[in-house]
Amino acid sequence: MSIATAASAAYIVAALLFILALAGLSKHETARSGNTFGVAGMALALVATIGLAAGGGIGAVDLALLAVAVLIGAAIGLQRAATVEMTGMPELIALLHSFVGLAAVLVGWNGYLRVADAGSDEARQLESLGMLGIHHAEVFIGVFIGAVTFTGSIVAYLKLSAKIRSSPLMLPGRNVLNLGALAVFAALTAWFVIEPRLWLLAVVTVLALALGWHLVASIGGGDMPVVVSMLNSYSGWAAAAAGFLLENDLLIVTGALVGSSGAYLSYIMCKAMNRSFLSVIAGGFGIEAGPAEDKEYGEHREINAEGVAELLTGADTVIITPGYGMAVAQAQHGVAELTRVLRERGVDVRFGIHPVAGRLPGHMNVLLAEARVPYDIVLEMDEINDDFAGTSVVLVIGANDTVNPAATEDPSSPIAGMPVLKVWEADQVIVFKRSMASGYAGVQNPLFFRDNSAMLFGDAKDRVEDILSAVRQVAAV
Ligand code: NDP
Repeated sequence: MSIATAASAAYIVAALLFILALAGLSKHETARSGNTFGVAGMALALVATIGLAAGGGIGAVDLALLAVAVLIGAAIGLQRAATVEMTGMPELIALLHSFVGLAAVLVGWNGYLRVADAGSDEARQLESLGMLGIHHAEVFIGVFIGAVTFTGSIVAYLKLSAKIRSSPLMLPGRNVLNLGALAVFAALTAWFVIEPRLWLLAVVTVLALALGWHLVASIGGGDMPVVVSMLNSYSGWAAAAAGFLLENDLLIVTGALVGSSGAYLSYIMCKAMNRSFLSVIAGGFGIEAGPAEDKEYGEHREINAEGVAELLTGADTVIITPGYGMAVAQAQHGVAELTRVLRERGVDVRFGIHPVAGRLPGHMNVLLAEARVPYDIVLEMDEINDDFAGTSVVLVIGANDTVNPAATEDPSSPIAGMPVLKVWEADQVIVFKRSMASGYAGVQNPLFFRDNSAMLFGDAKDRVEDILSAVRQVAAV
């Protein structure tokens, strides 16, 4: 069997492993095996690709360079994976998407330069097959998608890591700018296919870099979940475009898998936030409303850990709604222990998970699974939202936007229409946070001022520990 045939077979197996990985990752119970399939697929793909390159007669120097690149990349990847905090994952993912975009741009430019000389072997071969125009279109489209992904992901990284403000950039006529850029791209593509000039490629690269930057900069805080999954999708299409240029079937299949699953995730995220995809792209959501100055919310009430312990031990039913603050505080282990202790005392404890709680799709599910909270008491928003009425106590642990009643009650709120967990319908709501500050979308939360709400200030992990020891004391009496 030739190396090329073996590599093709390995690619098919790797593609199947990636499909199994996606299927596995869609459920808590199978997520671990999904990850293992993904790692195995990627290892196989790497070995096959290196084998293919070595068998294809690349020189010893090139092979050594390849080995050095793989080693450096693997070392950086391992180091980042070992040190990244769970709360830093969204930024890291955004940064990784930017690498995919950059790679697609470089592959595109390389693809152009290889055939730019009309006398080159590759150019003549493509010409004789009547494929030269298609090749130029692949180059142009690949560079465009890659460059949009590159700068878009960098802006997303800067916003998610709070290195720049997450509020939307509101340039006048921003939709016209975006649509205009797309129209210019379409016209330039046609031109480039007919006349593949270097300067046209340079112009589209700059245009796409600017468009990617503007597209994400003009999307506001609350819509970032959609942006992250959208960039995930773009990075897939960028990889697929690179796959066409490199004539690598696995890259095309993998890119299409990432592109379409990212697009579907964006759709799910839009549904979760009751937003249309187009209005997300049009941007402007998450404008700071300055509510604290404009509206009088009244006084908030405070409670201490002992008071919460008393409420919890006297409760029949408790629902915990975690959010980004639980991830920041790494409070999930304490929360899991509190859940176990309360359930042992006969309290019915369940979790209500908002689809965009935290900073990553599935962020809370990952944390709770890590802390070994049983899956059957972790419910999605739609499954639990009607149960808040009649629940004795709700613990809002580091969540804010996802439990904001203004989304359903105040049509002028910047997050109006976003489905939220209706925690305020419970008998008692305890909100764990460190201050009265607003959440990611920068919108004040009237929940804090309700008669049945009380604030438990401080780091969520410390407060959960305090409650645990108070509950244990009650149990010991
Ligand atoms: P929010 O970001 O709305 O609020 C989190 C709250 O946690 C803050 O108000 C903060 O208040 C509190 N907090 C922070 N650190 C701690 C700590 N150590 N201990 C206790 N509390 C703490 O979180 P939600 O999960 O409710 O909402 C998620 C938001 O993020 C939504 O707006 C969503 O659109 C957005 N988003 C979601 C993504 C996703 O894919 N899930 C991706 C990108 C954005 P204080 O500072 O007072 O402590």
